[in-house]
Amino acid sequence: MRNKERACDECGIYSEKYALSEGTSQEELLHLIASLNNKNSISGILVQLPLPAHIDEKTIINAISPEKDVDAFHPVNVGKIMVGNYDFVPCTPAGVMELIKESGIDLCGKECVIVGRSNIVGKPQAMLLLHQNGTVTICHSKTVNLAEKTRNADILVAAVGIPNFIKGDMIKKGAVVIDVGINRLENKKLCGDVEFETAEKVAGAITPVPGGVGPMTIAMLMKNTVKAAIVNGTRG
Ligand code: NAP
Repeated sequence: MRNKERACDECGIYSEKYALSEGTSQEELLHLIASLNNKNSISGILVQLPLPAHIDEKTIINAISPEKDVDAFHPVNVGKIMVGNYDFVPCTPAGVMELIKESGIDLCGKECVIVGRSNIVGKPQAMLLLHQNGTVTICHSKTVNLAEKTRNADILVAAVGIPNFIKGDMIKKGAVVIDVGINRLENKKLCGDVEFETAEKVAGAITPVPGGVGPMTIAMLMKNTVKAAIVNGTRG
């Protein structure tokens, strides 16, 4: 959240932060979202997940106006991504696509393998890669022979949430490896889902953690917010 606030400042985007206590009720949170939905000076709303157990995540996401849903988690925006006609893309998958584009990597016909099928990363990532004509495989905890699938990937996206899960011997020589994972180790250091030391020896290109997808996620949040301001006519 600190990085997001800082990014807003750097971009000249006005932001308001509501650091609510853990005991905040669902009603109170819904009330706040309703007031922000109606506030003309606010273009985008982001509820930082995860939420405490007594608050239903779906109810909260559904309460955000789809036009202000800069995280693109609302079912309306999820559906728009599915049909390929969207304003907002979830920030992390959007950041991954931007990295691929800026690196001049052509996805057409490429084998794209995603490890992870969450609603915020794996699934939207699959749709975005598909829209760019990649041949997409989504893997998850029940996938059989995972290494066989990952070794087939020209583009491998790791979004598992397990430190150093993807090893070098699970990667095809020359593959593009994008590590979405952000894991905090016992020694407080951050590490990704890919074992960088072994993976970089085989990969053609690889993103580091920290400093890879993470900053891109924040950049895409800024992009979505500017878009929301234009779409909603709330830019000041
Ligand atoms: P998540 O909701 O926990 O999903 C993890 C996915 O990994 C699930 O689909 C799960 O499969 C799959 N998985 C777990 N164990 C597996 C195994 N042994 N083999 C294959 N697949 C397995 O996590 P998430 O929210 O997508 O986040 C994933 C990682 O990305 C985390 O490290 C998170 O911190 C990071 N992240 C980073 C950013 C960023 O800005 N860079 C943003 C969001 C998330 P099942 O569905 O079968 O359980």
